[in-house]
Amino acid sequence: MKIGVMGGSFDPIHLGHLRAAEMAREALEISRVLFVPVGRPPHRSLPLGSDLDRFAMVCLAIQGHERFQASDVELVRAGPSYTIETVSILSRRHSDATLILIVGSDAFAEVRAWKDFDHLVSLCRVAVVSRPDSEMEEVAPTASWFLPVPGEGLPISSTMVRTSLKEGRSIRYLVPDPVAAHIEKRGLYR
Ligand code: ATP
Ligand code: MG
Repeated sequence: MKIGVMGGSFDPIHLGHLRAAEMAREALEISRVLFVPVGRPPHRSLPLGSDLDRFAMVCLAIQGHERFQASDVELVRAGPSYTIETVSILSRRHSDATLILIVGSDAFAEVRAWKDFDHLVSLCRVAVVSRPDSEMEEVAPTASWFLPVPGEGLPISSTMVRTSLKEGRSIRYLVPDPVAAHIEKRGLYR
């Protein structure tokens, strides 16, 4: 069985994340995709949204997709959220499965900077969805852990969603309706 792991700040989750996960799921015949909101990102500033809000929005976004699931594995862990630790935990938990980390091409460009990179790619494979405005890197695309996903992701980012909210513009069709409703109800990103 193949289990996909889609990590991110999800600050907030948007249709670009969901579409990337769906493209990878379909292309690679992944049984289940775990959405893992980052706890404490080691390489960037803390998310604006609380852990609870970001987790809630992931749950709202994936409801109705029987193969998508939210995971709190990074939120319940103290210290910086290193991908290697998350993948190690998940690979022990799902020892019979092949883990596939799903990333956008912008995140993939920084893959070499990830902690214990060689160990990481011994525990999982890395599926890359190309993201508009980000070049696919020259990182050994012949390596057995590398899985390019055919097609192009949607031109949507959380930054774009937060900027729209700040400027009082609509976020309809950038995020699922229940996520927009949650943001509105909680007054997030104003
Ligand atoms: P921000 O603008 O705050 O950086 P983001 O939209 O880039 O947010 P992240 O939570 O940083 O979202 O990204 C989590 C993962 O999802 C990363 O691997 C990223 O490359 C991927 N991703 C995000 N948006 C897209 C998209 N539109 N298409 C493909 N992959 C995406
Ligand atoms: Mg990003």
